[in-house]
Amino acid sequence: MNKPRHILGISGGKDSAALAIYLNDKYPTLNFEYYFCDTGKELDETYELIANLENYLGKKVLKLENEELKSSKDAPFDYYFKSFRGYLPSPQARWCTALMKLKPFEKFVNGEPTVSYVGIRGDEEREGYISRESNIQSIFPFRRNIWSNDVLTKFFNPNNQEQVLSFFNSYHKGNKFDKVLDILNEPITFDLNYKAETAKAIKLKLNTSLDLGIPEFNRAVFDFLKTTNYPLASQVDFELLDNEDVLVRDDIFKILRETGIGVPKYYEKIEFEVDGQKGEYARSRSGCFFCFFQQKIEWIWLYEQHPELYKEAIKYENADEMFTWVPNESLQELIEPLRIKQIKLGHIQRTKKKESKSSPYLLDILEDTERDGCNTCFL
Ligand code: SF4
Repeated sequence: MNKPRHILGISGGKDSAALAIYLNDKYPTLNFEYYFCDTGKELDETYELIANLENYLGKKVLKLENEELKSSKDAPFDYYFKSFRGYLPSPQARWCTALMKLKPFEKFVNGEPTVSYVGIRGDEEREGYISRESNIQSIFPFRRNIWSNDVLTKFFNPNNQEQVLSFFNSYHKGNKFDKVLDILNEPITFDLNYKAETAKAIKLKLNTSLDLGIPEFNRAVFDFLKTTNYPLASQVDFELLDNEDVLVRDDIFKILRETGIGVPKYYEKIEFEVDGQKGEYARSRSGCFFCFFQQKIEWIWLYEQHPELYKEAIKYENADEMFTWVPNESLQELIEPLRIKQIKLGHIQRTKKKESKSSPYLLDILEDTERDGCNTCFL
């Protein structure tokens, strides 16, 4: 098997940018290829961030584009929007991601063994985009567990237990090895009707294994991978096996600030006042300025902070056909003064409620929906 390529997608968001910096600085021997799938509808801050990154990394961030766009003068989003005859993408019909992100990505990989690095943080629960192609393997350097679920599912499959035990045996002895045995003997089902139970059992086995030693666990997984067709199977060693770092949101901001790359301006909180009550808003994500995953308060942020972009977003809607960015409400309706007031007050209430319960960060509140959003666009 050929040696794998090491690739990193820059979405324009903070996490993928910080990941590129972190890996470049910590693992200079890995030859990373960086790419960006441009929809032509990003905020200016995204393009600035990519330019700053290119300077820092001393490498180009390759702009991926589908063949059919090469002869078109339209921005990629507009080209496909026309071909869909004005049918807007939505969480249920995400043609934008499929055509502008996944298609060029798979062409870029071109069937070659590839390790793709993903910037999901240690304080997040989501998994991120996992390719179904066997030649692409995802690695999550910011998490305690760097491996993807598909790898873990195979690793903890009782059919592989004997082999896995022999790998663990090289790294754990005595009590620790007995504990590994207990972990692997914990029941697990792979019945498709019990997916939640499978996920829970894998998580338990994973966390207990990691508690016994992260580098030891990583080495056992790596040995196991060598018996498979995963891209890393061809590597003699893998630089990240001893990595025990866990990076959370504050670390990401710190990396961006300390390296001088800077945090995209749209993450900065802006104060507003309504009916004597004070609130704050910001944008929680990168991606298209009109992305349908954004919350209503983010639409109001766009209207008040980038009115020209809001007007542009309105132009894509066809309210008669119910083609609106927000379900059952046009962008024109969303900016009626009373509606703006209602959205802002609702946001203030929700923020207070969540602040009293959990995280003090506005971004945590805004990012609640991001977890269900587009993992290829917002990292
Ligand atoms: S940012 Fe939103 S609108 Fe743009 S491609 Fe991603 S999911 Fe689609």
